[in-house]
Amino acid sequence: MTDKELFKSLSYEKKNVYEAISDKEKADMLALCDEYREFLDEGKTERECVEKAVKMAEANGFKPLDSFNTLKAGDKVYKLNRGKNILLTIVGTEDITTGINLVGAHIDSPRLDLKQNPLYESNGMALLKTHYYGGIKKYQWPTIPLAIHGVIFTRDGEKITLNIGEKDTDPVFCITDLLPHLAKDQMVKKMTDGIEGENLNILIGGMPVKTDEVGEKVKFAILKLLNDRYGITERDFLSAEIEIVPAFKARNVGLDESFIGAYGQDDRVCAFTTLKGIFDTENPKKTAMAILVDKEEIGSTGNTGMLSAFFEMTVAEIIEKITGKCTVTDYNKVIVNSACLSSDVGAAVDPNYEIVSEKKNAAFAGSGMVLMKYTGSRGKSGSSDASAEFVYKIGKILDDNNVIWQTSELGKVDQGGGGTIAQYVANLNMDVIDCGVPVLSMHSPFEVTAKSDIYMAYRSYVAFYKDR
Ligand code: MN
Ligand code: MN
Repeated sequence: MTDKELFKSLSYEKKNVYEAISDKEKADMLALCDEYREFLDEGKTERECVEKAVKMAEANGFKPLDSFNTLKAGDKVYKLNRGKNILLTIVGTEDITTGINLVGAHIDSPRLDLKQNPLYESNGMALLKTHYYGGIKKYQWPTIPLAIHGVIFTRDGEKITLNIGEKDTDPVFCITDLLPHLAKDQMVKKMTDGIEGENLNILIGGMPVKTDEVGEKVKFAILKLLNDRYGITERDFLSAEIEIVPAFKARNVGLDESFIGAYGQDDRVCAFTTLKGIFDTENPKKTAMAILVDKEEIGSTGNTGMLSAFFEMTVAEIIEKITGKCTVTDYNKVIVNSACLSSDVGAAVDPNYEIVSEKKNAAFAGSGMVLMKYTGSRGKSGSSDASAEFVYKIGKILDDNNVIWQTSELGKVDQGGGGTIAQYVANLNMDVIDCGVPVLSMHSPFEVTAKSDIYMAYRSYVAFYKDR
């Protein structure tokens, strides 16, 4: 062996997926990503994602858990929580106390929510006040086309679902910004203050009602439109949940179409690949589960976040339906023997900002699924930090199934940080590690991912369900 060969065999080097995969794999990758773009366009909120997931699940033979009194190996079921979570399960052939294989992704994304009393008129225009959700860079949201999604109840209790701005024939909405000619003061502000949270107001109208009886004629016109079309009044906004999201569709990016650009890829890229992963799993040994959760971007709180007891309650229900009863001992055995891939995105090295990354330990778009032993900030604060045993086990499964993968941490030490659902899954006393797709422009209205990494994330989840 030459020294060159010896050095190569002793050292570790990342691979580029595009250089490593066959033509057949490339065709599979492109087909998967075509379907993924449709998934993104149909699911821009957590509620829409759950609806889409149900459609996909039913097409793949899954039925509501509530329709089963007992469960046996091979049964495919799903359970919803408040229209914002879904837990899919395929009952394994092994005793469930040997543990389950869980993959969990989140389906909420950073956005602007309408305030509870949002509508006002100013300078002959009608606007809606917003309160941002999750970690956004506020300056990215003005001057782009926006859509309105959400639910609002009429006084009589009828639930109205809004989705305005997605069809080519729909109008869109926007937040206006200052012209450069008059932005002298604004342009010297820090980027955090350049656009203020209270200035993220959505333009929704400017055509007044012809009347002398009312002062706010444009607001009046919008209220009349809302009432004519949806039967709602201003009061009904008080209980509504309405999300403002970018109005554009997912697109291929690059002359070679190697990337996908879209809103909400954190973390719907992992939600989609997780769903595809469990749909391609047949008769697993261990019970396979996939959970899509809400509220990750604001700390996994609430009854639809990962901190909700929904997961534990449903696991107990499933154990009971398989074995006839769920004792505390059985439940504990199931959990301690289980393993979870927290499928969430990582930060890809950005050629414009490579200074924030430490490249030996950073993820590159195109180098495969990214496994993240820990996240957190400063001294790994807030991280569940997976064990060597578990990282080894997952790495071996990936290698055995020819998955191309890389490892990363979130930027340079002390550069910033973040968290995922992993720490909350770990608290249940289950092995868990973050793994998913590297993203460029994360949390922006147009996040970018490499098709190769999406494909490898999907292959990772299939391998995990099949082989652990
Ligand atoms: Mn995420
Ligand atoms: Mn995020």
